[in-house]
Amino acid sequence: MLITAAAQGIGRASALACAAEGARVIATDINQAFLDSLAAEHSSIQVELLDVRSDAAVAALAARTPALDALFNCAGMVANGSVLECTEADWDLSFDLNVKSMFRMTRAFLPAMLAKAETQNGSVSIINMASMASSIKGFANRCAYGATKAAVIGLTKSLAADYVKAGLRANALCPGTVDTPSLRGRIASAADPVQAEKDFIARQPMGRLATVSDITPMVVFLASDESRFVTGQTLLVDGGVTI
Ligand code: NAD
Repeated sequence: MLITAAAQGIGRASALACAAEGARVIATDINQAFLDSLAAEHSSIQVELLDVRSDAAVAALAARTPALDALFNCAGMVANGSVLECTEADWDLSFDLNVKSMFRMTRAFLPAMLAKAETQNGSVSIINMASMASSIKGFANRCAYGATKAAVIGLTKSLAADYVKAGLRANALCPGTVDTPSLRGRIASAADPVQAEKDFIARQPMGRLATVSDITPMVVFLASDESRFVTGQTLLVDGGVTI
């Protein structure tokens, strides 16, 4: 399988969890140093430098990669702010990194995946990283973010509908608030970081943030044949926020 944004956070933990289950993982990211440390952690993880915002880089990697069983489009970013605070640049960057990257990756890797599904008479799986902050639930200061993650869910459902008979499954993963380097960055850049962390925890009914290992079992499940009858779904792993 191939994972984008796999050098840190949920992507990295997913690469390690899938490798631990026996998958051969191609972990991609723009951070070579972190990729190198990931490759050193598990012998069946191959690393590739990949900027998912580059059409040329995505096409070049697809051209030299054998057909995938599973693709986890994990790359994404949070732009803070309401509609009046979100700049046009942040809006465009959010849509390019969070949504168009998935369009790019899917168009590049899907033809070989479909051919594989046909010859193996089995299913291939695409997992797109969405969020509970999306069409599922609105959150303050998440204008661009929520809009992009809602778009990810729409893209995922269209893929599921178009290719269900061809043996392709597509599902959207919707985590709650996960303790990752990017979340730590958001907390550190708040006016009052201590209060910001308390606020993130306060919206989690289970009273804590998710860890990456709360999320990775769902990635393993969706990538594997254990989820063979699951497609077009938004899988929430949110500690009860949306109860
Ligand atoms: P993170 O922000 O800690 O790590 C992001 C990784 O993306 C980094 O390794 C970075 O180098 C890489 N990256 C940045 N730009 C890239 C590009 N152009 N091409 C390829 N890689 C690039 O990650 P995280 O917090 O684990 O988030 C991963 C995904 O999960 C994102 O899509 C995010 O929206 C989603 N998500 C996160 C949370 C959370 O609370 N952390 C909750 C729900 C969904």
